Amino acid sequence: MNYQRFFQEAIDQLHAERRYRVFADIERIVGSFPRAIWRSGAEAKEITVWCSNDYLGMGQHPDVIAAMQDAAGRMGSGAGGTRNISGTNHPLVELETELADLHGKEAGLVFTSGFVSNEAAISTIGRLLPNCLILSDELNHSSMIEGVRRSGAEKKVFRHNDVKHLESLLQQAGRERAKVIVFESVYSMDGDISPIAEIADLAQRYNAMTYIDEVHAVGMYGAHGGGITEREGLADRIDVIEGTLAKAFGTLGGYITGTKAIIDAVRSYAPGFIFTTALPPSIAAAATASIRHLKASCAEREAQQRQAARTKEILSGAGLPVMPSETHIVPVLVGDPELCKLASDRLLGVHGIYIQPINYPTVPRGTERLRITPTPFHSDGLIDGLKEALVETWTALGIPFTDTRRPGVEKTERIIPLVVPSAGG
Ligand SMILES: *Cc1c(COP(=O)(O)O)cnc(C)c1O
Repeated sequence: MNYQRFFQEAIDQLHAERRYRVFADIERIVGSFPRAIWRSGAEAKEITVWCSNDYLGMGQHPDVIAAMQDAAGRMGSGAGGTRNISGTNHPLVELETELADLHGKEAGLVFTSGFVSNEAAISTIGRLLPNCLILSDELNHSSMIEGVRRSGAEKKVFRHNDVKHLESLLQQAGRERAKVIVFESVYSMDGDISPIAEIADLAQRYNAMTYIDEVHAVGMYGAHGGGITEREGLADRIDVIEGTLAKAFGTLGGYITGTKAIIDAVRSYAPGFIFTTALPPSIAAAATASIRHLKASCAEREAQQRQAARTKEILSGAGLPVMPSETHIVPVLVGDPELCKLASDRLLGVHGIYIQPINYPTVPRGTERLRITPTPFHSDGLIDGLKEALVETWTALGIPFTDTRRPGVEKTERIIPLVVPSAGG
């Protein structure tokens, strides 16, 4: 066995399929978000980031940074061990109380990331329930799929947001069998929302448990940032609400909330919770400050919705193929992995605009796209600049516009694309 050659060939395979990923080297600048420094070889230049999941810019909020610095100054840098061995640092106790309150649940449990929270919670719930059947939306995030797999439970995948299909699977299983429906509220690549009320109705009718991933909604929807379940008054109809502290809340970590019994069972049985060091007090304190701020303030949510709506309107108006989205996410269709990467490279190299290309397997082949996430800090001027840059890029690379009657589009000559070797992914 030639180990080096084996791994090199695995990488070559990705290159051949045009889905080798390169991560841009980015240094964010507090106070001028979404501006950042991009480094490529010896070059360093200022760019605008249009693909951050720091959706509300809370990662640079003065209260959040102050809470982090204060906790680190008073309690040090690390947690000092797993909670099992070293106890729970106090800021984490406060954070879990805050999260339970955010979702109107009895208890909350924090993990080192949203990925770990899904993997650990779903696998533990599915493993503890006897002869459990997990019903999983076909577009669920990788962390949920991992959780289902590791539970060892039987799994049935229902077509995306298809309640008819879900109902037929529930019917087959019958009322008596243990069943968990696992789904998301906001699907982050298309920006669509699941039919939560209908799924909750089915769960009630067929006596199933419900587990929702609100990662792309917490902080951003609902009067207090409790997500789509808060906005629609459905939080009490869902058994487990999962979220992240790393996107709209701008820090790090993941969590679940639910009844005392469910949370205590996961706390007691999940290896992904028990055998890993807890989040540091500084991060827990920063997350609590961020959640508290967004519970009281709607300004960030409203500004984000306004700028996202304006971005969709301006880009669509320019004939760019904005995919339909009900949320703050603005996907623009390219439909080809190579062109998608070239478009991203050109935006960064020529226009100083960073938008990561989204290719297979994150999205289905043929639906490769640029995924744009406007924040309250993307001003009207930045949106207009984005439109100009996208139109130039679409024209230069010959990517289809929606409106082919737009003057100049067909006549534009295809120019040789500029390739920036170390950019994009
Ligand atoms: C990002 C993401 C996660 C993982 O959250 P992290 O805190 O980044 O680990 C889970 N679910 C969905 C849908 C996500 O997009």
